[in-house]
Amino acid sequence: MKRNILLLVLLGLTCVFLYSQDFILLYKQNLELPISIPLEDVEYILHDNDTVQSIVTKTGTIETPVSEIDSLAFVFIVSCPDDNHPHLIDLGLPSGTKWACSNIGADGPDGFGNYYSWGETEVKSHYAWDNYAYLDENDAYLHFGEDIAGTDFDVAHVLWGGAWRMPTVDQIKELIVHCKHRQSSQNGVDGLLVTGPNGERIFLAAAGFSRDDNIGGKSSCGNYWSSTVHILNNDAFGLYFDSRGWYWGYSNRFDGRSVRPVCP
Ligand SMILES: [Zn+2]
Repeated sequence: MKRNILLLVLLGLTCVFLYSQDFILLYKQNLELPISIPLEDVEYILHDNDTVQSIVTKTGTIETPVSEIDSLAFVFIVSCPDDNHPHLIDLGLPSGTKWACSNIGADGPDGFGNYYSWGETEVKSHYAWDNYAYLDENDAYLHFGEDIAGTDFDVAHVLWGGAWRMPTVDQIKELIVHCKHRQSSQNGVDGLLVTGPNGERIFLAAAGFSRDDNIGGKSSCGNYWSSTVHILNNDAFGLYFDSRGWYWGYSNRFDGRSVRPVCP
């Protein structure tokens, strides 16, 4: 992923009005760290004949020669009210489903958390067909219903208790249909910022997935289980995202993937 979510083409841009983002990061050439400006302080950005850019804030104006500007990024931050994760986030979804702020095993929204084979509730050092817990006598996937939400195979239900569940594939579809998404990062962790119809946000870390003894795709893709089985091939549905977008689909149950619980 790019180091930030949105790079603006500066030349030719004369005036930008800004809404609901949290910070502007101004990257200057030969300067490793960006200048960070809280967005609520910014009134507007002006270019003077494409030679000088002025970021006008409530307390003053930051003037920078356009030739010295590497890029400008808008950074959105998901913040929780305190450190007692997981929090229940109401994104304003039609079903009323609330999503957790963090993954199972993570310390907060910016943590990758643990990887689980589908239906298992313990982490492993090796994720493969040969040590998947739920194979039948014919060495095929054991079938225990179309959906494991709320059962002893639901890692969210088992580890977090209460009303927490793995999301169903319908809840994942609802997230994709009704929320906006964009690549983002939180405290240096890459992932997907998801904004609900009511403006509330969750951050899905790009934790990749675990297969055999390796973790693939870390910082470049996210793989999150649903509780739902594909009835034709017995794979399990989940949410996938990378730099091209986000999708729902199904995949090998033995892979280690992230779990982001919901409360129905
Ligand atoms: Zn939280």
